[in-house]
Order: sequence, then structure tokens, then C-alpha cells
Amino acid sequence: MEKSLKEIKELLNLLTKNNFALFPRVKDPEKRLRKLFSELKPHLDRKRKAWVDKVLKLLDTYPQMTQEQQKRFLRELHSVITLKFTTEEIEKAREKELPPKERVVAAGKNLKRAPKLYPIEAFFQPVEKIKGITAKRVNRLKKLGIESVIDAIYYLPFRYEDRTTVTKMAQLKPDREQLVKGKVTAISQIKTKNGKELLKVTLYDKTGAVSLIFLNKKVFGYYKLLFEKAKKLGKEVLAYGKVKRSTSGFTIYHPEVEVLEPGRLEKLGRILPIYHCAEGLKQTTVRRDIHFVVEKVLPFMPEYLPEKIRKRQKLLEAAEAFWRVHFPSDEKPEELQTFRSPPQRRVIFDELFLFQLALALHRQKVKRERGIAFPVTEELIEEFKKALPFKLTGAQERVLKEIVEDMKKPEPMNRLVQGDVGSGKTVVAAAAAFFAAKSGYQTAVMAPTEILANQHYKKFKEFLKPYGITVGLLTGSMTKREKETVYRAIKEGVIKVVVGTHALIQEGVEFKNLGLVVIDEQHRFGVKQRVELKKKGKMPDVLVMTATPIPRTLAMTAYGDLDVSVIDELPAGRKPVKTEILFSDELPKLVKRLKEELQKGNRAYIVYPLVEESEKLELKAATEMHHFWSEKLKPYRVGLLHGKMKQEEKDKVMEAFKRGEFQVLVSTTVIEVGVDVPEATVMVIEHAERFGLAQLHQLRGRVGRGDRQSYCYLVTSREVGEEAIKRLKVLESTNDGFKIAEADLAFRGPGEIFGTRQSGLGDFKVADLRRDYDILKEARREAMELIKENPELNGLEELKKLMKFRFGEKFDLVEVG
Ligand code: ADP
Ligand code: MG
Repeated sequence: MEKSLKEIKELLNLLTKNNFALFPRVKDPEKRLRKLFSELKPHLDRKRKAWVDKVLKLLDTYPQMTQEQQKRFLRELHSVITLKFTTEEIEKAREKELPPKERVVAAGKNLKRAPKLYPIEAFFQPVEKIKGITAKRVNRLKKLGIESVIDAIYYLPFRYEDRTTVTKMAQLKPDREQLVKGKVTAISQIKTKNGKELLKVTLYDKTGAVSLIFLNKKVFGYYKLLFEKAKKLGKEVLAYGKVKRSTSGFTIYHPEVEVLEPGRLEKLGRILPIYHCAEGLKQTTVRRDIHFVVEKVLPFMPEYLPEKIRKRQKLLEAAEAFWRVHFPSDEKPEELQTFRSPPQRRVIFDELFLFQLALALHRQKVKRERGIAFPVTEELIEEFKKALPFKLTGAQERVLKEIVEDMKKPEPMNRLVQGDVGSGKTVVAAAAAFFAAKSGYQTAVMAPTEILANQHYKKFKEFLKPYGITVGLLTGSMTKREKETVYRAIKEGVIKVVVGTHALIQEGVEFKNLGLVVIDEQHRFGVKQRVELKKKGKMPDVLVMTATPIPRTLAMTAYGDLDVSVIDELPAGRKPVKTEILFSDELPKLVKRLKEELQKGNRAYIVYPLVEESEKLELKAATEMHHFWSEKLKPYRVGLLHGKMKQEEKDKVMEAFKRGEFQVLVSTTVIEVGVDVPEATVMVIEHAERFGLAQLHQLRGRVGRGDRQSYCYLVTSREVGEEAIKRLKVLESTNDGFKIAEADLAFRGPGEIFGTRQSGLGDFKVADLRRDYDILKEARREAMELIKENPELNGLEELKKLMKFRFGEKFDLVEVG
């Protein structure tokens, strides 16, 4: 199948490539296509077979079609074949049509409950405390990062080997591990040409045969006996291992073997859990070690989830669930592989639920801490607003009010302001800094890059200078002397608002009285940096700003300890960016549009996706593109920004573009988030289909920042297929970042929108937000409801203790002393 499919794909690619450039040179492609499709057909599922039948009929009429019809037909074929005919999907569809496979399931190992359960703390003890555990075993467990008993319980298999599902000989696939069942038809000891001896056994199951080969002479005796006995008694034998294709048929080298005796199976007829191993440890050892602990302790594990939640969510009991993830028996193999078997669901829910509970309690606690109550009056707010060159939008007003409420309260503010690019977050932050300064406190504003810090510095100065509030700048590229001058001014309180990069959390930086911390584009910083900056003051208020439009549940998990405000409105008079999909062969149109805009004195970005194959390639591509556009857009000047430049070089180029030293910026790197060049009105994104929707939206947000009409051109090729076009159309149809984020979520799942690692979303032992977003939503709902009903978690001591043990440190819930 793979051969004919591959040839079809190659032929269609050739024909449609470069807008059918080679089409006139390929004679009678329908003949070859008919042959290839006929070869392919028997290997397909019913639906695809029917489609191929239609194609074959159309191919008969192909010679009568006009050239235009032929091209349309080939284009259609090409997109269906590319999008719907992946080997994997075809195999899946095929398998669904086959009758369910036979399974041989050995008697499972059941959990035997102890008459008396232990309190949950018993499980927090170090593994050393387990009776009968050896020091060696303890050491090995430590290598896996397992300290406590509960760590071992949570050390879940990351995949399972299915040794229960029998594959018929006729359906074996090479290079995969499979279980076969058959009768022994031949046993022979052979000497190979190079003098080696091997034992060869043939198993047969009516659909075909497979050879089992043993090369280790020491085991010949044992296996000969086993197979001869089975042959004599006519008993079936199970064999498991990687199937290889050889000239004489399918072969398994050194299979696991067992005679099929009902009720007596030991090795086969099981689903084998596979654990991550540490260096120098073998899978079998790791499995034995984990199983040792689990078998000893799970019989004593109490249930800690409220019965009501367990019933509502249809969750297994804790001990039972943990037992079955480590010792699966009658779970469905395909459910286990996708982490959706009932025991896995319970364990994943468990972790996310505990996390959400800890988060909620942390929020309760933070609210009780003593921070600064800024005396923000109505007059002060009016004073700030009056001096602005524009009127705040309704959304800005609302968010500002939420911030003022927080600032006035004695507990520290922890607020996230989420707002689409260009929604005007900076002015809101500047207002907060103004209130802080007027109350006699300093503000620190942290941005992820130098250029953003510079930009904020200018903006804050613009807003605050009229009031005589001194704004300072602190970045890594400043000289030691310059830095020291700023350090002094911060320490003495001369500088009221300091804008900077990571340089702000350096040791030398001391504030006189830091009262407010503003962090921009939070997703570039971890929680840790936030805490570090916070430590420079005494319980300062914290305001985090982000343009990443993350769906709410995810936002609340990522920034879980923050209250969320949303600026969901753009300033009046802001014209939505006009977005259009263009095909790569429409270049002349694009050049014309670009020139029209440049003539008006506007500027343009042209962005290429990162070429990752190699540094050299990327550099070459970037330089070529730069050259190409410099020629095309003469006499306008074109600058270049690429991924291999150092941050300083990038900043220099950006600054030059801001000043207008060139009018077009070709970039092979994603343009710095948040950069503000109001004169830029055109954003061209090449190979737009390779970007995620959220990323495209961010890029588009680089234009449309003034009152001029701006344009975004998503350039793609005609060959990308339906799905890609559908995605790009979302951008054509809306400028709303949240709608786009949701569409993105539907297309790709949350993990990709939002790098899980950086945000602390990756701290789970079993849950994976990419995979488990649906469970997260449920867990969050249940946790919130429980906290509302029972804020102190009265009567749920075990649950409380386990939550603190798992997430207490992260959320600062462990009481000291
Ligand atoms: P972002 O939310 O992307 O950080 P900015 O705060 O940089 O947005 O604002 C983008 C631009 O819009 C800035 O030039 C800013 O001065 C301007 N702006 C902000 N609020 C308003 C408003 N209410 N009316 C008009 N222009 C505004
Ligand atoms: Mg901004």
C-alpha cells in the first residue's frame, strides 16, 4: 500500500507544483494514476474504497476534460490525498472495520483491602519506612526521584505493552510488537552458513505462520522441551515480540513464550506497564521496584475525595484506581494508551483537583495578608484622566476601577490584565504607577526585552512627566557606571517609577519603598521572577499584563493565583485591520498594494516562518528574501531581522525601523511582542499556514496601532489544503483575540497555544494539560464548588493533608511553626 500511495502523492505533487508548471510535460498521467489507484484500493477501508471508485470513473473521462477541468480535478485529488490519506489514518480506519480482535487475558492481580486503613500521612513517609524494603531498592527509587511512598504511587506508567490482544498471522505488521497464538508445526535446530546454531519453531494459526527464532544455545534445551510437549498435546502457544519480515515470512526473534493453559498464564495475557527509567536502571527492575511499593501500601490507602464528587464524576476509589494503573488487567488497551481508562481518569482528575483546591486556598490566604492601602481618591483619578490626550475606553475604565479597588484595600493586589494587542494596557498601568507615586510609593515595571523596556520607559515618561514624577530606566546593556547612578536614585527614592528588564531583579537593586510591581508580557517570565521582584518591597501590589488571549480556565490555572481583568475593547477610531488571504502566485498584486502604502509614507512588515533545519539555511533564506524584496520594492529601503542575530543587533534594527530609516522590515523571526510602530500599516505573513492562529493574530497586532487603515496579507500556496485555509479564514473573519484563541484551541489543543513548561503548567506528575484540558475543566468546577460550600474543608482532613503535601510548597500553604 505504502508504495502505491507514495507514488500517487509524488505524481500529484509533480503535476500541481508551481501552479502546474510541469503539467504540460507529463503525458497521459491518468493512465499511471489509474494503475496506482487500482493497486491501492484493496488496502483501504470502505469509505476510501468508495472514493477511489469514483476517482477511477472520473479518470476514464479525464482525456475528454478541458485543461482547466483536468487541473481542477488534479488539485482536488491532491488535497484529498494529502489530507485524508495518511498511512496512519488508513490503518486505523481499516482496523475499525475488522472484527474485534481476540484477547487472551490472564487472571488479574487484585487489590486486597486491609481490614484497617492507614491515615493519609502514612503515605507521606519516606520509602525507607516500608517494611522489608532493601537499601538498594531505596537507592534505585531515589534515582527515579521517588522519596515518599506517595511519589512511588504517583509514578505512573507512561505507556503500556498490550500482551493480551492476539493478532492473526495474516494480519501481522512488520516492526511492531505483537502477540500471536498458534499450534506448533515444526521444531528444528539449524546450523547457519557462518556456523552459528539456532532453534527455529513454527507456529501456525490457519491464517498463516510465523517463525520463532532463538539464538542463545543455553535456552535451546528448555524451549525444545516446552514446544515438543505442546506439539504432542496439540496445545496452543502464545508468543510475543517484535515481528520482523524476512524472505521466508514473518519472524520473531527471542519472543516471550507461554503455553496457553487457562488460569495458568504468568507472563503473557497481560498488559505490561512501562515506566520511565533513570540512567543505568532497567525497565524490569524499575517495574519490580514500583510494584513492590504499590503492593505493600495500596491495601491501606484511604479514600480522601468527597463521596459526592466521586459519584458525580463517576470516579473509581483511590486505592483501586492507583492499583489498576500499575496492574491493569481487564482495562481496554486502547483506553490505556490514550490515558482515558477509568483508573487513569481518576488519577488525573485527582491531581488536577488537588491543584485547583490548593490554588483556591492560596488565594484566600493572600487576601488575608497585610499589604499597602493606597489612598486613591476620585480627584486623583480625575487628575490623571484629564491630562490624557484621549478618552479611556469603557473597558479601560472598568479595569482601572478594578485596579483602584484592589489598591485601596489593605491586602496586596494580585491582578492580571489581559488585553488584546493595542487595547491600551500601558496607560492603565501608568495610571496605577501614578496613584502609587502620589501615595509616596515607588513602582517597578518589568518588561521581557530591552526594546520593550525602552518603549515603556518612553510611554511612562510621557504620561507621568507632566506631574513631576521621575521615571528611570534600568537595562542589562547599560554600563556599570550608568547602572550605579540609577541604583542610587532608586535607593534614595529620587526615581519614583523605574522601567527595566531582568536587570531589575539583580542584587544591587534596592528600593526606598517599592509599592507597586508591574510585569508586562507575563508569559515570558516565570512565577519565580514575579516573586523575586515582589521581594524588593514589603508586600507590594502586583499588576501583570499580558496580550496572550488564553481561554479563561487555562488562564486561571496558569496564572491561578491572580485575579483576572479583561480589556475587551479597542480604542475608538481604531480601524480593524483588513485581512486577506493571498496565494503565492498573486505576487504582483501584493507588490502593488505594498507600494501604494509605502507611497503614503506608511511602513510594512514582511514575516517569514522560522527556518529551523539549519543555521546556514536560515541565514541564506533570510538574505535571499531581503534581496528579493529590496529589488521588488525599489526605491524603498528594506531592513532585515533574522533569528540568528543577537538581541542587541535586533534592537538596533527595530530602532532604525521605528525611526523610519527604512520603510520595510523583512523578518524571519517573530517580531518582538508588543513593539509599537504606529506608522506600520501593512503586515505580510508568508507561508501563513505554518503559523498558529494565536501567533498570526499577535503578528497582525503589530499593525493597526494608529488611526490609519491597516492591512494584513496572509500569503499561502494553493496546495495547502482545505483545513489550512479554514484556519486562515478565521483570521479573515474576526479581529477578536479571544474568538481566535478558542478556534485555535479547537484546532490544536491548549498545550501548543501556550508553552506548558514556562508557565509552571508542567509541574504535574500525571496530568498533561494538552491532553487533559477536559478533565481540568471538571476538576476546577468541582474544586470551586467545594470551596464555596466548605471554605475550611471541614471534615475533609485527609484531602486537606494530601493537597498540602502535593502542592503546599508551591502555593505557600505550609504553615511554619
Ligand atoms: P497594548 O495593550 O498593546 O500594550 P498600548 O497600551 O501600547 O497597547 O496602546 C496602543 C496605542 O493606543 C498606544 O499608542 C496608546 O497610546 C494608544 N491608546 C491607548 N488607549 C487609548 C484610548 N483610550 N484611545 C486612543 N488611543 C489609546
Ligand atoms: Mg503592551
